[in-house]
Amino acid sequence: MRFFSSKQGITAVCIFAALVLGVFALVAFRKAPVPIPIAVKSSGPVKEVIGTSVEGRAIEAYTFGTGGTHLAFVGGVHGGYEWNSVLLAYVFLDYLNANPASIPANLKVTVIPSANPDAVYRVTGKEGRFTAEDVSTDTTLLASARFNADGVDLNRNFDCKWKPKSTWQNKTVSAGTKAFSEPEAEAIRQFVSKTGPTAMVFWHSQANAVYASQCEDGILPKTLDIMNTYADAAGYKAVKSFDAYETTGASEDWLASIGIPAITVELSTHETIEWEKNLKGILALLDYYKLSRQPL
Ligand SMILES: [Zn+2]
Repeated sequence: MRFFSSKQGITAVCIFAALVLGVFALVAFRKAPVPIPIAVKSSGPVKEVIGTSVEGRAIEAYTFGTGGTHLAFVGGVHGGYEWNSVLLAYVFLDYLNANPASIPANLKVTVIPSANPDAVYRVTGKEGRFTAEDVSTDTTLLASARFNADGVDLNRNFDCKWKPKSTWQNKTVSAGTKAFSEPEAEAIRQFVSKTGPTAMVFWHSQANAVYASQCEDGILPKTLDIMNTYADAAGYKAVKSFDAYETTGASEDWLASIGIPAITVELSTHETIEWEKNLKGILALLDYYKLSRQPL
């Protein structure tokens, strides 16, 4: 028994083939689905090596946030006996890792925890992170570990009133063969020229005060603002100018000469990090730049 003529059969096969092709075309060429955006969780700081020390140790920088206003914090310019300024910077890194939301959206924060790593190694025997228990108790060693491995006082090696010999308390110290002769100072210079920070904070010890900075043209108004902001919040004395003896080639003063506000925060001893006080100072600074919406 025949249900279809051969003509009807061909028509049916054609319709069937057209349907199959149509379905195939629909499946093959339909628009790709629009991806649903998912929130990307912050993966922590961007870590960079900004230079290497005389003995070849990495000078590291950790940057959190992506805002246009850029604050940079530096520990350990005077290395060994100011190891507490390095430990403070590491504790600040821990805080930022645990509290990334503490950085306002318009800000970016860089921490350079150890600007003179050879001198820290000399008193701790540790590469990178260390604890207070690792630090030598040899006071002669601690005092001599202010300098880099060339015997240069790095905070006399920057380009503001630079001289080959400079002063530290009642001593004459080497300031290098020229401004930025030392790789550690050069690393900071390159970081500054590459990133153009809005303001910088340098941690030292043990004068127990916050200092402004200046080179030839007086103190920048913003420098006074951030000195007072940090000092008031942290409970340190604010000191406009350091006049106990002449200093040349200081990093903060070089920054003043190129228009970047910079302050020095001196902890009260060579052993304590005064974390609660400094956290208040840091957060006040973040708030200052959040509220005032500083341009780049
Ligand atoms: Zn110092």
